[in-house]
Amino acid sequence: MNDGKLNIVFLGPPGAGKGTQAVGLSREFNIPHISTGDIFRAEMKAETELGRLARSYIDDGNLVPDDVVIKIIERRLQQEDTRGGYILDGFPRTIPQAEELDKMLRGLGTALSAAIYLEAAEDVIIQRLSGRRVCRQCGAIYHLVNMPPAREGICDKCGGELYQRPDDRPEAIRHRLEEYARKTAGLIQYYQAEGLLRKVDAGIEKEKTYALLRDILNDLK
Ligand code: AMP
Repeated sequence: MNDGKLNIVFLGPPGAGKGTQAVGLSREFNIPHISTGDIFRAEMKAETELGRLARSYIDDGNLVPDDVVIKIIERRLQQEDTRGGYILDGFPRTIPQAEELDKMLRGLGTALSAAIYLEAAEDVIIQRLSGRRVCRQCGAIYHLVNMPPAREGICDKCGGELYQRPDDRPEAIRHRLEEYARKTAGLIQYYQAEGLLRKVDAGIEKEKTYALLRDILNDLK
């Protein structure tokens, strides 16, 4: 079903550039960028109960349990700003999450428009994750080599402090990639079977990947 909405899921391993690309597309197509990782990081920063629970999984590179994530997305998709579509970045990450999402959308009388798989080789991903730095204040993403800030350690956008996510440490990266292979990669077949899968090369320069994504979204509109 294509009801003129851009209900998009971004698939792909950590470090494929899902967050970076979603920020630009969200602005250009005027649809919210919904990142479960960003939601958890905000809760951790505010030291809420949910934040404390999430931290016990996230910092070591484990997935947060399905029921916790599903509840968050259920609430978020009921908000008014999602009516024209959205980019889901980092959700779903397991088959049960994908099944719940399908159910949720049916309940809301809508469906996904596409699941876009951002494909990148493992050496590229590891290089990106280990050099990634994030603004503690606004969440903007940088890279020590590929996207350095103008002033070392300081966010260009808000002046906040840049830090390395604990889950971007080498041991945690290794574990996240294992979790991805074990629990998330199967979603590619899941969405292929639903006829929703679109693949994009995310191992090239980010501007080139962005142009490919823009073409897909324009095509879906
Ligand atoms: P991300 O910013 O997408 O890399 O997410 C950071 C971390 O948040 C992940 O490594 C997981 O621990 C957790 N997380 C985010 N989204 C989900 C999800 N859909 N299911 C389970 N855990 C998640």
